[in-house]
Amino acid sequence: MKVFHLSAECYPVAKVGGLADVVGALPKYQNQLGIEAAVVMPFYDRKFTQENEFDVVFQASSLLGTERFYFEILKERTNKLGFELFLIKIPGLLDRENVYEYPDETEQFIAFQLAFLDWINWSQQSPDLIHCHDHHTGLVPFLITNSKLYTRFANTPTVLTIHNGQYHGAFSWTKLGLLPEIDMTKVGLLDWNGGINPLAAGVKCCWRYTAVSPSYLEELTYNSNGLEYLFYMERSKGIGILNGIDTEVWNPKTDPMVPEKFSLRQVVSGKQKNKVLLCERFGLSPDKPVISFIGRLVIEKGADVLPEALKESMEAHPDGVNFIILGAGEVKTQEALVALKEEFPNQYNAFIGYDESLAHLVYAGSDFLLMPSRVEPCGLNQMYSMRYGTVPMVRVTGGLKDTVIDYGDEGGYGIRFLQASVGDIVQSVGRAVEVYANTALLQLLRKRMMALDFSWDRSAKEYIDLYQSLNPAI
Ligand code: ADP
Repeated sequence: MKVFHLSAECYPVAKVGGLADVVGALPKYQNQLGIEAAVVMPFYDRKFTQENEFDVVFQASSLLGTERFYFEILKERTNKLGFELFLIKIPGLLDRENVYEYPDETEQFIAFQLAFLDWINWSQQSPDLIHCHDHHTGLVPFLITNSKLYTRFANTPTVLTIHNGQYHGAFSWTKLGLLPEIDMTKVGLLDWNGGINPLAAGVKCCWRYTAVSPSYLEELTYNSNGLEYLFYMERSKGIGILNGIDTEVWNPKTDPMVPEKFSLRQVVSGKQKNKVLLCERFGLSPDKPVISFIGRLVIEKGADVLPEALKESMEAHPDGVNFIILGAGEVKTQEALVALKEEFPNQYNAFIGYDESLAHLVYAGSDFLLMPSRVEPCGLNQMYSMRYGTVPMVRVTGGLKDTVIDYGDEGGYGIRFLQASVGDIVQSVGRAVEVYANTALLQLLRKRMMALDFSWDRSAKEYIDLYQSLNPAI
């Protein structure tokens, strides 16, 4: 009954984005439902690893091409995350601070996957299923079916979850030698578009793949950065399962990172108190609607249109609306967002960087959360914001389409728009200002949003049903 989740990120150990939130929550709920789900991830030299205690449960050395590397498997001692957590430490490769953006990323993640397979092979473990997440772990389904080193696992079911189909981890064929001995008649399974493409190999070789929302499952067939045809051809293996959110971490009644806790009953006063603190921190007046953006400042998130869209919105509503940005990413967008501060000191502010506890305050203290994403596989921010009574303003794509109903429609509670464009954002800001001015409507929308159930219980069960369809022993 044992499932290994293999991932580059896991909250609270190391988080860059939504992948971490999912891998930090799903296994916890699966354990509660009786599945023994463990997480295996790289070791990073960060707060969590420095402040917690680990036992070395295995050590060995493996080959990455012709280079021998030593690795250790560290197990967190207390299982306090609600699941067993294993970290793979490889001195010189997987012992650094950051998760991504090292020049030897290809070597890092190949070594991670090989160390995982060698560990479970040599320690005679027999998982009932291996659940891979994103391209960093996409070679595992290929290796266990096409390398004689791992034939013991050839019949172990594999599931690959696609959290973001834009990134494939592709590398040149000149690095084929980094992989262990494989069946050379099957190398085509590694190929996509003239290179070795771990995400493509994972999709081809896994038993089933999942996308993090039903709409994103379809979207991958026409928008996946070059893998469209593959997703189209493999579509019958795909299933869309909407992410949940960790309702224990994201609970406005208990969230230690929210200064003024609140439930639906005290939502007006609770949010207002948090808004005052948030506005104080950003030097803004709490008497106007606050529209915030949280996220990576990248084209996928529509961050490049924000500077112009916010400028025109503030010109259209002088002194009628506040904007707050929390994010980091592309330098050009960062610079443009910083430059706006001088132009609109009383209406706008931005924190460029990553700050988990500030994010919680922004969700709690804002009136609206803007998400003009071009691509949003599931999107967690809109679910967090709704749980905190903050109206999401979303472009209809992927998971945003599946989770936000426009307030103009029956039972709706959010603001939807079609394009990641200045015009659509400015128009949506106009609608937000109208909603804010109508206190009864705003209260109704908050009530509807806060009653929604985005907990993991439902999604964790859907994953278990999928596992059981692949391995009746689970
Ligand atoms: P993605 O994984 O594509 O970045 P998701 O919506 O799935 O997007 O997840 C984003 C997560 O990262 C959310 O928990 C969000 O609050 C958090 N986040 C993103 N940027 C920041 C930031 N600058 N500071 C704090 N939290 C952030």
